[in-house]
Amino acid sequence: MQKLSYECRRCGRIVIYEQYKNSPFCPDLGCGTKLQLKPQSKHWLFQFNPSVYNWFGRTKETREAEQWLVSQLWKLIRKGDLIAIWSSGQKAGIYALGQVITDPAKTPLNIGQKKYFSDLDYVEKFCDKYSAYVEYSHVFLEKPLTQEACSRDDVLSKMQILVNQQRTNFRLTGEEWDRILELTV
Ligand SMILES: [Zn+2]
Repeated sequence: MQKLSYECRRCGRIVIYEQYKNSPFCPDLGCGTKLQLKPQSKHWLFQFNPSVYNWFGRTKETREAEQWLVSQLWKLIRKGDLIAIWSSGQKAGIYALGQVITDPAKTPLNIGQKKYFSDLDYVEKFCDKYSAYVEYSHVFLEKPLTQEACSRDDVLSKMQILVNQQRTNFRLTGEEWDRILELTV
């Protein structure tokens, strides 16, 4: 479970709840700004279809930040949120973990990434839908957390992806995220 923490939006100082209870103002000398509840980072699962997007090929070639559609959830997804990458298809499962590094914006697909898409209609979607960049902290191409393993797990078997497979972005609970970390990193 994440603990509540508070931030100073003027100088960036972060304070835990116990300290906030003593004084709701920034403890930095000369700052003294009223502290605000720090938004907790959220967790998401992003899915690609390997027959549309050659994520595996790209990941073998580069680990540069990658642009992802965040379609319906753009209002909720924020810079700093944590993500797991899911491949659909025959080798379905989780292959990477990372972090969202930009707030969602309507930005055409970057040129470098374009060649990995086999479906140009999909590329077009970046022109009128929100997308965000993601940076990977862990990639485990050879040892994915397979769909089969997820289905057998008490916690992960309840993930949305296993119920409805049609979308790109799925919410993960804090408990699901912790379990994914336990089983991968
Ligand atoms: Zn401050």
